Amino acid sequence: MTYINTKNMLISARRKGYIVGAFNIVDYTSMEAVVEAAIEESSPVIVQTSQKTILEMGYEILPKMIKFLSSDTAIPIAMILDHGTDIDIIKKCIDYGWSSVMVDGSSKPYDENVKITREIVKYAHQRGVTVEGELGHIGGREEHINISENKVLLTDPVKAKEFQRLTGVDSLAVAIGTKHGHYDGQCKLDSPRLAEIMKLCSFPIVIHGCSDLPPDDLKKIMSYHPSKMNISTEIKHAYLDSYKSYIDSSHNNYKMDNIYEYEPLKAIKEVKTSIKELVKSYIGIFGSSGRAVIKKAG
Ligand SMILES: [Zn+2]
Repeated sequence: MTYINTKNMLISARRKGYIVGAFNIVDYTSMEAVVEAAIEESSPVIVQTSQKTILEMGYEILPKMIKFLSSDTAIPIAMILDHGTDIDIIKKCIDYGWSSVMVDGSSKPYDENVKITREIVKYAHQRGVTVEGELGHIGGREEHINISENKVLLTDPVKAKEFQRLTGVDSLAVAIGTKHGHYDGQCKLDSPRLAEIMKLCSFPIVIHGCSDLPPDDLKKIMSYHPSKMNISTEIKHAYLDSYKSYIDSSHNNYKMDNIYEYEPLKAIKEVKTSIKELVKSYIGIFGSSGRAVIKKAG
């Protein structure tokens, strides 16, 4: 069993100069695809669950699934609640077995964000769970988080350092111009800001909105050595696009050969393959391939 919290995983990543990918899942197929990709690449990995996914699937099943998938591998695997905005949900995740939670108090005034985050850090650390905070407003749209262009607030590097000192968070998500959802070909990345954040903050830094980032921006961000980068939107697209392509090909085959195959297991297999390929490609880009030694637990 190598189901662990994110603490050492993220500290090691920064120290050794690679990034741990955090991938959002929506069900068992997508979770299995992420974990299998990490195992095959011998990479540490973080599985992310949104509040929406948890409310849909329930608190009990998700930790059971990740513990089952971690049970016979030695790669470090963590599971984090992504963008926890509801204190009850965050505490329940800690109680039910998530190894890490994100407290997103970024929509609140600074002092309130500090207060909520500090309360969760205390609760989580007593139970061996790590906490990611957020400071600034990351733009774009992802499930219940929706920040329009004029509401984006980039992270103040000095405040980031202070926020960590006041709250005790293990890692911090910062707003540097990346956004949730799709890019229209460009990202207004503020690299000097990220450079300053990295200079002042010795704890792990997290970048959200990394799906679909223009390659040059992705490379630039990686050169500053954040510890964790989040991929969500692209997983959703890989999921639904592969499902759709199976259904489309099934219809086309029927038209051509009168063969009507409508087999859910084949569709699920294509979904899994497609997500796995995507995750493997990010593991390669992030340089985390080969950073975990695989051996049978026991
Ligand atoms: Zn995010």
